[in-house]
Amino acid sequence: MAIRWIRGSVKKRKVWSDGLFTLTVDCPGVTPFEPGQFLQVGLQLDGKHLHRPYSVASPHGQELEFFIVRVDNGELTPRLWNLEVGQDIDVCEKATGSFTLSHTPVAKNLWLLATGTGLAPYIAMLRDPKIWETYERIILVHGVRYLTDLAYTEELEEHHKAHPGRLVFIPVVSRALAVQGFQGRITQAIEGGQLEDLTGTPLSPENSAVMMCGNPQMLDDVEALLNARGMRKHKRNEPGHYVVERYW
Ligand SMILES: Cc1cc2nc3c(=O)[nH]c(=O)nc-3n(C[C@H](O)[C@H](O)[C@H](O)COP(=O)(O)OP(=O)(O)OC[C@H]3O[C@@H](n4cnc5c(N)ncnc54)[C@H](O)[C@@H]3O)c2cc1C
Repeated sequence: MAIRWIRGSVKKRKVWSDGLFTLTVDCPGVTPFEPGQFLQVGLQLDGKHLHRPYSVASPHGQELEFFIVRVDNGELTPRLWNLEVGQDIDVCEKATGSFTLSHTPVAKNLWLLATGTGLAPYIAMLRDPKIWETYERIILVHGVRYLTDLAYTEELEEHHKAHPGRLVFIPVVSRALAVQGFQGRITQAIEGGQLEDLTGTPLSPENSAVMMCGNPQMLDDVEALLNARGMRKHKRNEPGHYVVERYW
């Protein structure tokens, strides 16, 4: 089915670090969507339409936000990075995707694991009441290379204050000394037990639902670690423990 495009414009551009940015897009007419779903975003270039899927980093009803990393030899992201406020950007009318809370098992603890811009769907979810109504404790683990890649930390701090004792944020930094959290990779923090020690929460089939999003290597490795703990991928007809969103 042909994609229906809406011509929008860049309303704000927030740079977190070189190549890591959030575009706020003025684009009325996007149909209602669930936090965690993605929209196609694109540009019209010399007779060709170049577009890619992006998780929406805001819930429906708020300004449309996309959290993007520039892939240096990528086709689209260097162009998105160069956009200025007021310039045109196309967004498809209808979001899709099942990386949402409606497709995630309910448990006492919800683990949100992300690398890089894989944080985007969780930003949308944390701004929406449903996550707070469904899970007792939320553990957000954000894996990045450098401390400067830790975006949205002030907003996470606000959620932490607004929901005392219910949100634990663990930054995992691979190429710099982590001031708080863990230095290394998410997989090492799971394997070595540090993630559970730092959060005081067991990552076990009994009480855990896990969402994971981002780098495919992290996803494969974490899946293997969770499987070894007796956890299974959640399917509609076969309830399990974790759900996965693959960016490439
Ligand atoms: C469901 C879904 C949601 C997505 N949501 C986001 C999002 O919220 N933010 C975002 O930045 N990207 C997201 N992506 C990735 C995005 O669609 C593009 O693939 C990415 O922006 C690169 O586009 P490009 O044209 O610049 O690179 P291309 O010329 O298409 O090159 C693709 C290559 O870029 C690399 N790459 C792709 N995505 C990333 C990434 N996020 N970090 C590092 N390297 C990457 C991979 O090596 C991939 O093979 C999502 C992908 C999917 C499938």
